[in-house]
Amino acid sequence: MAILDRAIVRLLPAVPRPVVQKLSERYIAGPELKDARETVRGLNAEGKMATIDVLGEEITNEDEAAAIVRAYQDVFADIERCRLDSNVSVKLTALGLKLDYDVCRANLRVVVDDAASRGNFVRIDMEDSSTTDDTLRLYRELREEGHENIGVVLQAMLRRTADDVAALADLRPSVRLCKGIYVEPAEVAFQEFEEVRRAYTRALEALLDAGCYVGIATHDEVLLRNGRRLVLAHELGREDYEFQMLLGVRRGLGDQLVREGHRLRIYVPFGRHWYGYSLRRLQENPKIAGYIAADTLGRLVGRRNGA
Ligand SMILES: Cc1cc2nc3c(=O)[nH]c(=O)nc-3n(C[C@H](O)[C@H](O)[C@H](O)COP(=O)(O)OP(=O)(O)OC[C@H]3O[C@@H](n4cnc5c(N)ncnc54)[C@H](O)[C@@H]3O)c2cc1C
Repeated sequence: MAILDRAIVRLLPAVPRPVVQKLSERYIAGPELKDARETVRGLNAEGKMATIDVLGEEITNEDEAAAIVRAYQDVFADIERCRLDSNVSVKLTALGLKLDYDVCRANLRVVVDDAASRGNFVRIDMEDSSTTDDTLRLYRELREEGHENIGVVLQAMLRRTADDVAALADLRPSVRLCKGIYVEPAEVAFQEFEEVRRAYTRALEALLDAGCYVGIATHDEVLLRNGRRLVLAHELGREDYEFQMLLGVRRGLGDQLVREGHRLRIYVPFGRHWYGYSLRRLQENPKIAGYIAADTLGRLVGRRNGA
């Protein structure tokens, strides 16, 4: 990343919320369930699957966490009623992980049970490294209770991920493998771009060797190439893996995967707690410095012109 981009990323939290909202529109379906529904309909029509995320990581009390649970129940009902090809992704902090582990577990159980009753599936997103132990522990607890319709996420950038792959292998988990977006210290995570790429490919190979179902979540062309190669080498059928991408990112690459006959799932966030998710997406956008500079310049010029 260029020096200017890095500086802008550090300054992102200081960018006014309306500017962040405008710049991140492409990454979020909208504030309401109907917005997610229409987005997923469009994706399904293009031969893509979806995973719907109710944005909610900024919750501060148990009532808000309960509201997120109800929002997921509405999502499952909607998916069934409209016959959408979509599962859901949940963040455990939105279900109360930072408030109380047991409350979070109870909330997750409700979501997973509701999904099971409708033949649907829940992917637990992975958040920053302060949550990794609790997230994997909760995943194991639910699997050991007999819940099969649940999957987890591993972040290639974390140094611990190779050990986590080995530790989870007895569960034959369904894993989404991503690079990891949270800023982590060097003791915890690889810092160099190529190091993360190598770790990603190693983790993908280990997961496939262990017979796991993998959601290969990346927009990185090198990793997509490695993904295709490993899927072929493991002689996987179309239903034995999937690629995953984020709404609003590298759509052309996704179209290409679909044309080649791979299954592709798009991550579709919606809801009113859009701020944290938007900041993370903007951090990763290589053009962010230009966008913010143009916006700031536009506003300065506008102000000077009295607009
Ligand atoms: C379906 C899905 C689910 C995810 N779930 C999680 C999760 O649970 N936990 C977690 O920590 N991370 C998650 N991530 C994010 C992931 O960890 C990476 O931060 C993100 O995918 C970018 O990494 P990359 O592999 O695409 O490679 P990069 O090298 O970051 O991106 C490759 C190229 O894609 C383009 N690109 C990437 N991001 C953007 C953007 N925001 N705007 C515009 N262009 C962009 C750029 O052209 C870039 O050069 C998820 C990603 C996906 C696709």
